[in-house]
Amino acid sequence: MRSVIKFLVVLALVFAVVLWVAGLDGQMEIRHGEWWIGISLPAAIVLAVALFLVLHALLRIVGWLRGWPERRRVRARLNDRALAEIGLTRALVALAAGRPEAARIEVARAKGLAGATPQLLLLEAEAARSLGDDEGAAKAFEELAARADSRFLGLRGLLRQAEAREDWDSARQIAAEAQAVEPKAEWLRAERSEVALRRKDWGEALALSSSEAPRASLTLAAAEQEPEPAKAAELERQAFMADPAFSPAVLAHARRLTEAGSPRRGRAVLQQGWDAAPHPDIAAAFLAPEEDRIRRVKMADDLTRNTTAHPESRLLRARVSLDAGLTGRARQELVALRDSGHADRRGYDLLVELERAEHSPDAAREKEAAWLREAAEAPAEPIWRCGHCGTEHRSWKPLCDACNTAGAISWSGAGR
Ligand SMILES: [Zn+2]
Repeated sequence: MRSVIKFLVVLALVFAVVLWVAGLDGQMEIRHGEWWIGISLPAAIVLAVALFLVLHALLRIVGWLRGWPERRRVRARLNDRALAEIGLTRALVALAAGRPEAARIEVARAKGLAGATPQLLLLEAEAARSLGDDEGAAKAFEELAARADSRFLGLRGLLRQAEAREDWDSARQIAAEAQAVEPKAEWLRAERSEVALRRKDWGEALALSSSEAPRASLTLAAAEQEPEPAKAAELERQAFMADPAFSPAVLAHARRLTEAGSPRRGRAVLQQGWDAAPHPDIAAAFLAPEEDRIRRVKMADDLTRNTTAHPESRLLRARVSLDAGLTGRARQELVALRDSGHADRRGYDLLVELERAEHSPDAAREKEAAWLREAAEAPAEPIWRCGHCGTEHRSWKPLCDACNTAGAISWSGAGR
């Protein structure tokens, strides 16, 4: 409605102007020597307007003709881009359908039309990967990484490739570059931590580790790698603080304190570790400075005072009592251990040893046989075992050499 009114107003104005021009009085004259042209003023105005319109139209036509090749180029480019888009979709479908060779051909054609766009480069890399052409994939990923807008995509591809060929040094460098591009990518942090584990760079793995990581074992592993004694000592302390039930850290921290001239503090750490999770190695370290067998019995009592009924405490007291010739005490502990239902083979081995100590060989034989029958049913003695693959290890180590999992080796015995 508004535009209709506008149109009518313009029409009325034009009409008024035409009427006004038609009503003008006067004449226009052009003289040149003997030549003379004379026309009325309205006719001259109409002529001037007509001339202006014709000139304007002419200029427009010239401009249109001059822009024609450029328009043609743009149209061709748009056409190419549309064709490339179709090629890209076809390549995606081919890749999804498991026809990487066809995807590769489509990508090459689309690249010819639209140039190497990030999408096409990524598809090219994926197609090459599917065809087992790692070199081709690497080339495409490198091209992606060289562009500012797709740098992360390229680095991500190169990282996967480095990991696949277990080139951990390259993987570390690429992952760090990728993290610089995308500092907030959490998965990348986990990836870098994993790469650090693979490189056995425990310090870096620890720095990058998440809250669920086995901190005590990683820290202790980092301590073992640390050449500077003061730093190593601090890492051992941190490992112990992270998990006082982790006996390797308890032993390392206590050993360091003792060597530094604080045997009492060393003993206190062993005591704390034993209270958290009794482990035979802790008992061995605690009793090591004492050679007198009777005094060792007293020390074992001290160590186990907070964990009297724990199977490891009973085993320890039985062992030192037997060594000191206190067979009555040893028997008391071993019978209690057996009755608790937590005796493993070591308990029965001690019972056999006890029978031999108390009886003549003939009298002992029958009793030994009974214990050995029971021992066959008892659980095996605890050991360091990888929680990931189940491989047994003689001692703790940061990395399972059977399955390469870090921080998975744990003691299979009873805990607290
Ligand atoms: Zn393993």
